[in-house]
Amino acid sequence: MTGTPPVVHGISGNFFYDLGSDAEVMMNDPAFLRVGTIFKAFQDQGARIAIITAKDKLRRMLGHELDFEQGSAICFSAEKCQLTTRSENGIDDAGQLTDLPPPDVYSGTLSEYVFSAGLTLLDTWSPDILYLSTSDYIQHKHGPGTPTADAFYGMIDHHLLEMQAHDAVIAVTADHGMKAKHDSAGQPNIVYLKPLINELLPSDRFRIILPITDPYVVHHGALGGFATIYLADPADVQPVCHKLSAQKGIELVLEASIACERFSLPPDRVGHIVVTSSTEWVLGHSQQYHDLSTLSEPLRSHGGLSEQRVPFILNYPAPLLVASTTLRNYDIFDAALNHTTD
Ligand SMILES: [Zn+2]
Repeated sequence: MTGTPPVVHGISGNFFYDLGSDAEVMMNDPAFLRVGTIFKAFQDQGARIAIITAKDKLRRMLGHELDFEQGSAICFSAEKCQLTTRSENGIDDAGQLTDLPPPDVYSGTLSEYVFSAGLTLLDTWSPDILYLSTSDYIQHKHGPGTPTADAFYGMIDHHLLEMQAHDAVIAVTADHGMKAKHDSAGQPNIVYLKPLINELLPSDRFRIILPITDPYVVHHGALGGFATIYLADPADVQPVCHKLSAQKGIELVLEASIACERFSLPPDRVGHIVVTSSTEWVLGHSQQYHDLSTLSEPLRSHGGLSEQRVPFILNYPAPLLVASTTLRNYDIFDAALNHTTD
């Protein structure tokens, strides 16, 4: 939504350690955003912007600085679609946009609502840009090729076809892939970082941050493939790196400066060490920290190198893009707006 990587826009995860306030906090406040959004820039030039996001946690970020008074911007979440107001969201009662019942936040219907309401707006409100952001609830629970996953993608296909019929330029991408993270018995493969580091250091000398942490834990239990570690004493960096590198299930252990360079992350929002897990594993804090009873299906998650590849799909040819091998998901705005040809 900014067309830039995290080192520029500042948002490095759901959750981070805020050095300024010395607290571990959610990163869903637009105050953490360091650049303006593409949506705001377009609205300033007279364009009509409609944004629908599945979970409410993204809403204020996506709608940052939009003017909802002049009738040219709409931004709301499917989760809170029944609570929208014209002054806050640019639309009263967005729950009336479709015939679907109010969606549960933990459901595929949440994303279906996003598409369905988006189509209604395309029909009735003529946005210049329509931005739809779904949730990955289904993908966390159901692998590719399973009936539930296929039905979900069928639902998406159906809506994209309808949008295509409106002559819309459609761009589809994702913020991450998804991989199975369990053994053959369905038990999660978890590397708990705290007990490992405790073998070297007492707990008051380090802090583990799992950026996947958010209030919606039912589908992943705050278990992902990426962790960053803060150390009270920088002299501990080498021994901790050495220890973790030797651990099964860990793919990469990098000092922060190298990780920030490689992954375009904001250095002031990353600890001293970055750790990623290998394909079939996730990183946990400690056994007590995670409530695994919320996982009703074998764990699937994201955050490591194995989930870096994402789809990048346009419904028109973009011949000048074909040769590029460095496309990122945030380039899809540029691709859709500047590169598609009839
Ligand atoms: Zn997820």
